[in-house]
Amino acid sequence: MNLNEIENYIQINYKPVKAKWSGIVIHHSDTMDGDKKDWEAIRRYHIYNNHWKDIGYHFGVENISKKLEYQIGRPLHWNGAHCIGFNQTHLGICLVGNFDIKEPTPEQYKSLKDLIILIKKYFAIKEVIGHRDAIIRFRNEPIKTCPGLKFDMSKIV
Ligand SMILES: [Zn+2]
Repeated sequence: MNLNEIENYIQINYKPVKAKWSGIVIHHSDTMDGDKKDWEAIRRYHIYNNHWKDIGYHFGVENISKKLEYQIGRPLHWNGAHCIGFNQTHLGICLVGNFDIKEPTPEQYKSLKDLIILIKKYFAIKEVIGHRDAIIRFRNEPIKTCPGLKFDMSKIV
């Protein structure tokens, strides 16, 4: 999907949950982002392996045939399943790839930034944080690198 299609999706669905979402948590998938569509594989993993209702995130960005595409995750009226302590208040966005190994490209950062700007048009988002920082706040221990050791949060917020 492109950003216009994502905006249509948000426009159709945001009203009942306008007040629900006040933040965003950013993740990486911690998997290789190949040229094929990985989003549905992640969805299947979350459903059949984790026994969740749907993929844990609300949105995704992934590379398909050398082009970045936006993906829709679980419905906006469902709590997330991406970050304990934040699932009721923070939308989850996942950038497909492993950014412990390499830094996101400028295009990947931009795609996330554009999506965040779009979400802020419809929801009063007060903060955008990385999963690792959310965990530190919730549990006071650095147990995850997500969205990746080489992911620079300052480039998207
Ligand atoms: Zn994460």
